[in-house]
Amino acid sequence: MPTRLPLVLRRCHACASDHFRANGKFRVNAHHKLIDAWLLVLCTSCGDTAKLTVFERAQVRSVRPELLDRLHANDVGLAAELLQDPVVLRRNRVALDWDGAWRLDTGGSDHLDREVVDISVRFAARVPVRPVRLVAEGFGLSRAEVGRLIADGKLVSAVRLSGKLTGDFTFTLKR
Ligand SMILES: [Zn+2]
Repeated sequence: MPTRLPLVLRRCHACASDHFRANGKFRVNAHHKLIDAWLLVLCTSCGDTAKLTVFERAQVRSVRPELLDRLHANDVGLAAELLQDPVVLRRNRVALDWDGAWRLDTGGSDHLDREVVDISVRFAARVPVRPVRLVAEGFGLSRAEVGRLIADGKLVSAVRLSGKLTGDFTFTLKR
């Protein structure tokens, strides 16, 4: 689950930094029947402001009133949603840095004593993480130990556990 907004990876024109922070502020610009909306992000080093396009030159009537309200209210939840929208990230040619912006909630320690456990992992945000890292953290193992469990067929899943995932998956661990 996310603990704060991820940082936006983008080159700052004012300094050498490449990390920007969204604070939930938006800029909306209406001109005649057209409307633009941007999510503002601040350079983490010098504070310079950059804009990520939410939409540009949209027909005012085509924008949902509920979305307009949230833009005008500088809704941090909306900023979080937009930063998880692959279309917004592609449009602005930015990637995200989730380091330190999420945590693993195991929901207790019952799973630690069992010989066989079926675990389902639910992502509260599209955080790209290595399943190996989640399993290691959730079971108090090293990543090398998790790698051995996979090699020995004791940790199995329908998804490839060695890559990165951004969505829900399940696995079975036998010890
Ligand atoms: Zn800067």
